[in-house]
Amino acid sequence: MESSILFNGSHGHDDPDYLAWLDANPEGFVANIPHPHTPYDNFPVVLHRASCPHARNPGNGGKLTSNTQWKVCDLSLDTVKRGALRYTRVALKYCQSNRTGGCGRFWTAEGNTR
Ligand SMILES: [Zn+2]
Repeated sequence: MESSILFNGSHGHDDPDYLAWLDANPEGFVANIPHPHTPYDNFPVVLHRASCPHARNPGNGGKLTSNTQWKVCDLSLDTVKRGALRYTRVALKYCQSNRTGGCGRFWTAEGNTR
């Protein structure tokens, strides 16, 4: 069964593992999700392409993956979206960054490929 990869700060799924996955899968996708039991659980979940510079923005405490911030990754956007919905019910949002390599040139706010 296909399944997304969850980086949650645990051994083998920590920041270096996440960064290695981004480097190995530049055509993949990432959902940046808060832990379900934090006060952040009403923040929008932002979807990025693995090549987006914002996929490498550290969160609270300078960590990319931790007890409070998880990354759901896969080469399939649909799998990432389904994976994110296993952990959170908040709306998914498509990153609109116009930085070099940012997602804004790839898809619209509705997720349609440009
Ligand atoms: Zn992005």
